[in-house]
Amino acid sequence: MDAVVLRAPNQFEVEEVQKPACPEDGFVVKVMAVGLCGSDVRTFGFGHPKVTLPHIIGHEVTGIVDEVGKEASGFKVGERVLINPIIPCGECAYCKMGLGNQCSNLTVVGTQIPGGYAQYVAIPKLAITNDCVLKISDSLSFEHAPLAETLASVMSAQKYAGVKEGDTVVIIGSGPIGCLHSEVAKIRGAKKVIISEISDSRLDIARNFNAIDVFVNALKEDLREIVLRETNSLGAEVVICANPVGKTQEQAFSLIRSRGKIIFFGGLPKDNCHITVDSNDVHYREIAIFGAYAYTQKEFKEAMGYIESGKIPSEKFVTNVLPLKEIKQGIDIVKKGLGIKVILKPWDN
Ligand SMILES: [Zn+2]
Ligand SMILES: [Zn+2]
Repeated sequence: MDAVVLRAPNQFEVEEVQKPACPEDGFVVKVMAVGLCGSDVRTFGFGHPKVTLPHIIGHEVTGIVDEVGKEASGFKVGERVLINPIIPCGECAYCKMGLGNQCSNLTVVGTQIPGGYAQYVAIPKLAITNDCVLKISDSLSFEHAPLAETLASVMSAQKYAGVKEGDTVVIIGSGPIGCLHSEVAKIRGAKKVIISEISDSRLDIARNFNAIDVFVNALKEDLREIVLRETNSLGAEVVICANPVGKTQEQAFSLIRSRGKIIFFGGLPKDNCHITVDSNDVHYREIAIFGAYAYTQKEFKEAMGYIESGKIPSEKFVTNVLPLKEIKQGIDIVKKGLGIKVILKPWDN
């Protein structure tokens, strides 16, 4: 089969490799579409602490069940499925609390096990027993389904932080994550969404989304001034840092009102992950800081429901569909902000 094999940071090509054997108690999926996630773009460029090279990465996988192991009960060859790549162990204390994303023995498709930048991917039994394989209806296109993965993370973060009716929400970064945050904030009842971005092309694409009320190019305009103007000089109830830049996490404190909530959504580079926070500002103004990582199985299902029902306009998000062999072009689109969501198709030429 064809697969993108990552051999070293920035060294990857489409190669002919062995099709994965069917796990005795799991199944093999013929990958029909895989989302090109910003986190994967980082892994292609810099590697990943939990990825042992060479490896096939890719975690936003949807396709057709191709082979079924003896004990893969409930699944049949030919069924359309969407994979939740965050596979918890089901046994640890966090799993028992229903917090699969904080599982102390997590298996992530594309990280610990080979992923979806390939024509086939093997799915272990653990994914079935822990409710990480979702059947999708014929009406949901393979190109749109992978968006559920990113959406689930966004929904999980806003649920945790309690984004609510009447909130003014500032989102820093207008990539796929930022734009999804705007849609989810409005669904949760936010009154106003202000988005800040430094790339004009990304900002222009974001203008397609009705959920965003105020667009700011932070290189040309003063974000703080605009946020204060839009909030009667109070600051926003919620600031979401949807980019991997520490400076914007620091800046969030100047945009937030007392008792406001800051969500650190994007991870920072490992060698540059410390920021400076005025602890007294947090103390006196009672500011809450929320982390965000992945989602639970329940949240992933909810996200798929939002895509299936059209609550999230997935057709606006999926801006580029390319054959898997054009992955480098896809990465270029992500890096330059020329599209929102790039979807790769392993069987297209
Ligand atoms: Zn992703
Ligand atoms: Zn666990």
